[in-house]
Amino acid sequence: MPEGDTIFRTARALGRALAGKPLTGFRSTYPLLTRFDDETPLAGQTVEAVESRGKWLLIHFSGGGTMATHMLMSGSWHIYRPGERWQQPRVNMRIVLENSEYIAVGFRVPVAKMLKPDELARAKKIPSPAIDVLSEEFNAEEVARRVMAHGCEEIADVLLHQEVLAGVGNVFKSEICFVTGVNPFCKVASLSPAAVAGLIGNARKLVAANVLEDSGDAIVTYGGRRRRTTHESDPGASLWVYGRNGEPCRRCGELVRRRIQGPDARVTFWCPGCQPMPDGSEIDG
Ligand SMILES: [Zn+2]
Repeated sequence: MPEGDTIFRTARALGRALAGKPLTGFRSTYPLLTRFDDETPLAGQTVEAVESRGKWLLIHFSGGGTMATHMLMSGSWHIYRPGERWQQPRVNMRIVLENSEYIAVGFRVPVAKMLKPDELARAKKIPSPAIDVLSEEFNAEEVARRVMAHGCEEIADVLLHQEVLAGVGNVFKSEICFVTGVNPFCKVASLSPAAVAGLIGNARKLVAANVLEDSGDAIVTYGGRRRRTTHESDPGASLWVYGRNGEPCRRCGELVRRRIQGPDARVTFWCPGCQPMPDGSEIDG
């Protein structure tokens, strides 16, 4: 599952290729999209903006419609020059948006729909900018309220709820808890308002640091913006705890632990030394 920073970078790249320019061509294998296009042709319309909302990517057209796509596990958008060879087979093509300079191809994008403005406003699954960790309209107080509403759940699970805080995925979840010194298994109700505010602030900081112009595809939390100069096969090489089970904590030297957590059985990494349970109780497993 791509995390919010990946979708943000995809939206930025698509925006640079498409925004402000009229479309010259549109194709799709999805009847819902082609039906919309039959009634309101997209060719000739200008792409007004491309934005990410959590894990959704929105393409706004001058005719008032918005194409909303979700990548789930399999989807990706590529940008090609006319005549350039595609890096995926044509059979994987789901959506093509073309202007005079570029061809944007959505490969195996599993969820795609066209929404009118009122439908976009009502679309419950698409997070509002106020809770999108990368949006300029992000509202930390609103997110804190939504986090607190899940008092009986463990904090690391709540950080993954896209209707609470959009754009944080499983890697960032563990990293945010570590950087804030919060045990990922503690119940939200046991956290102080300051700890919740700290988690939200660090979520924004860590994800934003990974969408800078010079940030690559790999998520980097440990080592700040310093880019790796060697090719590391270890996925945890640039992270505090994620992927580092059994390795010494970079802060205190205790061994990092790994455990499956929550109803969706997502993997969580943490340092027992830096992230004790608030009441001192042990975690099983
Ligand atoms: Zn530690």
